[in-house]
Amino acid sequence: MKKKGVGLSITPPKKECSDDKCPFHGRLGVRGRIFTGFVTSDKMARTVTVVWPRRLYVSKYERYEKKKSKIKAHNPECINAKKGDVVRIAETRPLSKTKHFVVIEVVGKESRKELLKEEALQEAEVVEKKKGIASEEAEEAKEARGDKKKSKSERK
Ligand SMILES: [Zn+2]
Repeated sequence: MKKKGVGLSITPPKKECSDDKCPFHGRLGVRGRIFTGFVTSDKMARTVTVVWPRRLYVSKYERYEKKKSKIKAHNPECINAKKGDVVRIAETRPLSKTKHFVVIEVVGKESRKELLKEEALQEAEVVEKKKGIASEEAEEAKEARGDKKKSKSERK
């Protein structure tokens, strides 16, 4: 019988594993939100810390504040993400007191470009969804984002 997989367009890992909390080889289902971030710690057993940047609009100053999200995610043996990897994580049922995400894919190794590309894609999706409700705000965010990217590429 074919396993149901994660229900996302993601290529399953080549390695097999016997981890019950693996979305590919165990019985763990994923639902909810998906994020892409860096692994900043792989010191815990089968757990990694994933961090990714986000921006918060501060209306008083009409500027964006840089913030970051830090989340613990389960790291199945077949994926075995290491520190510095860019990974995609998906929400699951609570796996422990502080863990309710699982690593579903290693996108690249310390490749910041790829992460930014991924981020831009996600942002675009959100903007598309928001358009109906707050089109002006979304446009503004998009513009600010574009400007930021431009300046980044110029610097390189
Ligand atoms: Zn597995």
